[in-house]
Amino acid sequence: MKDQTIGASAAPSHDLWATVQAQLDEVAEQLQLDPGIHAILRQPERELTVAVPVMMDDGHIEVFTGYRVQHSSARGPCKGGIRYHPEVDLNEARALAALMTWKCAVVDIPYGGAKGGVSCNPRQMSEAEVCRLTRRYTAMIMPILGPRRDIPAPDVNTNPQVMAWMADTVSMLEGSSVIEVVTGKPVALGGSLGRKEATGRGVAIIAREILKRLNRQAADTRVAVQGYGNVGSVAARLLYEMGCPVVAISDVSGGWYNPRGLDIPTINAFMEAHPRSLLEEVAPASADRITNDELLTSDVELLVPAALEHQLHANNATQVRASIIVEGANGPTTREADAILTDRGVIIAPDILANAGGVVVSYLEWVQDLQRFFWEEDAVNQRLEAIMVRSMQEVWDFSQSRRVPLRMGAYMLAVHRVATALQTRGIFP
Ligand code: NAD
Repeated sequence: MKDQTIGASAAPSHDLWATVQAQLDEVAEQLQLDPGIHAILRQPERELTVAVPVMMDDGHIEVFTGYRVQHSSARGPCKGGIRYHPEVDLNEARALAALMTWKCAVVDIPYGGAKGGVSCNPRQMSEAEVCRLTRRYTAMIMPILGPRRDIPAPDVNTNPQVMAWMADTVSMLEGSSVIEVVTGKPVALGGSLGRKEATGRGVAIIAREILKRLNRQAADTRVAVQGYGNVGSVAARLLYEMGCPVVAISDVSGGWYNPRGLDIPTINAFMEAHPRSLLEEVAPASADRITNDELLTSDVELLVPAALEHQLHANNATQVRASIIVEGANGPTTREADAILTDRGVIIAPDILANAGGVVVSYLEWVQDLQRFFWEEDAVNQRLEAIMVRSMQEVWDFSQSRRVPLRMGAYMLAVHRVATALQTRGIFP
């Protein structure tokens, strides 16, 4: 049988674009996609590279390279994050832009995919330098941005403050308020209530929906969560509130294990009171220290990798004991691990579905901004819930009807939706 498993990404970032194209080729074959449509989707629609001069605090000038790649606008304005990292390059932006196209399509929100970033090390820059870099980079990519063209959001090393500077830069240059040009803004500047928790909430919803379909009770479902940042800590809390014993958690400092379940509210209260602290400082009652490797192979039913890419690989996939994996992180499972786990019957909710809660609430933020009418947090959470539940059902049904794993089903559904939009529009002129 043809290999029907696709890992979310390949190891070195320079290979990521080739991997994303190979994934598309595989899906296109499964869907018997029109070769012309396939050729369109293999390339980004538009790419912009900019040289960004910044006056550093000591008075010397540095020139950084920035990118914005728009993979597809077939289903709506392009949407995707801005990353500040030394390894940002054009191929990485291309790959991540394409993944955004598939992510927005799989949850059926009216966006295409984009990604951008600047090759820099923000940890070695002052806040004022990052602010000047952001403003100049924004001005230079502004010709292709816009609330109906391309709407950036935070990604690695960018945050609501960076989005506020971007919104302000566009507004100053346009001479009018254009806060809807970015999402993930502070609530004080048109950000949405619920945005901060949205990705973890989406992960927990997808986990709950899978348990339902497998007739599993929450109380009998022990959970391990790798990564205790924005995504992992919220997912752990919500799974705990649903009644799952969360028996293992970890971050970069290592993890904690208690076979009877950890006291997640107390741990989260500590982490919120000490925002810069690591889990090693928490010392929960009756818990043992474990390593990240031990966490990934711990005796649980549900594993939520919510830290980094490539945590599940060919060398540890055979030892994973969980029968369900819900991917909070982007690309936590290599292609090889995906094949091993799928062969073993492990159910994997793929990243483009499981961690789409963030982009869904970004969409809700944009809708609120466009209307200048803001919703209560409950209303945001209810809409997120409805979109995630519907998306899970659609991916589940599609995968069952095609007899493919959820990851392949999600990609096929996404590519099918984008292809349908392209075919319905026709080729201009
Ligand atoms: P974060 O920086 O808030 O948290 C990351 C966590 O992972 C931290 O607890 C960190 O200590 C831990 N970590 C880092 N290296 C680790 C290691 N080697 N082993 C174990 N833990 C390690 O980041 P986040 O926003 O929670 O994002 C986590 C993942 O989810 C990333 O892959 C990100 O791309 C993905 N994601 C995030 C969002 C979002 O809205 N935040 C949306 C979609 C996808």
